Amino acid sequence: MKLTTYQSDRGPRVAGLYGTALVDVNDSDPALPSCPKALLARGWDVFPRIQRALAVGRPVPLETMRLLPPIPNPEKIVCAGLNYADHARETDMPLPAEPVLFNKFPTAVAADGQAIVLPRASREVDYEAELVVVVGQGGRHIKPENARRHIAAYCCGNDVSARDWQLRKPGGQWLLGKSFDGFAPFGPWLVTADAVPDVGRLAIELRLNGHTMQRSNTSQWIFAVDALVSYVSGVCTLSPGDLIFTGTPSGVGFARRPPVFLQPGDRVEVEIEGLGVLTNPVVAE
Ligand code: ZN
Repeated sequence: MKLTTYQSDRGPRVAGLYGTALVDVNDSDPALPSCPKALLARGWDVFPRIQRALAVGRPVPLETMRLLPPIPNPEKIVCAGLNYADHARETDMPLPAEPVLFNKFPTAVAADGQAIVLPRASREVDYEAELVVVVGQGGRHIKPENARRHIAAYCCGNDVSARDWQLRKPGGQWLLGKSFDGFAPFGPWLVTADAVPDVGRLAIELRLNGHTMQRSNTSQWIFAVDALVSYVSGVCTLSPGDLIFTGTPSGVGFARRPPVFLQPGDRVEVEIEGLGVLTNPVVAE
């Protein structure tokens, strides 16, 4: 099942994809919440009911709707650094013994199709194809063996990064270098976890202007989603709609010789097997 959020005159509302149309979940079944976070908070038990709502609701053609980021206002965006064995080799870093995590401000979210704006303050904006975990039922101290119960969905993401800020500002400004507005595009929609049989075995690819720059498989993960969810929840309470970016494979721009950075007019696509294609054009600020 594919879920997203659209802008209506009643505010942002969650909708499901039904063929090439969208069905407003709450219009179709008023007992279901119109807010994506409230809907995902209900966990896997609510999926069959959403499915029934999509089948009986009034479909509206996709192209007539303004799509928002599937979760427009996540409480937290947590990101794993160095989580692919091939990317760790490319950056000459030893394999981490435990997850390396950082975060982005929630204001960095962007929808499929929304432009990545190259900030005036950076000359080295890079791409990173990532699978994104979307938290359903929240929790603290979640054991790895229970983590899947707390994962509602997966989607494609791009951990857009200003390398000059991240790596060369005094002290290393990871948070700021990763948090310019629009630096967390994700989508094009959420794929509910029940529809993803093996998240640890999915092809992942990033294309820049049609050229493949990253191509790997989530089987290269050093820490799988269960370990990441458990680790983060040992620090802070995970809440419905929180996003966990699970790290990027090899082929990022700054590790290339010569380096490749995003330019106005570029088009970036992240494709993950079964999750769709996230497309974002690139413009100057
Ligand atoms: Zn990343």
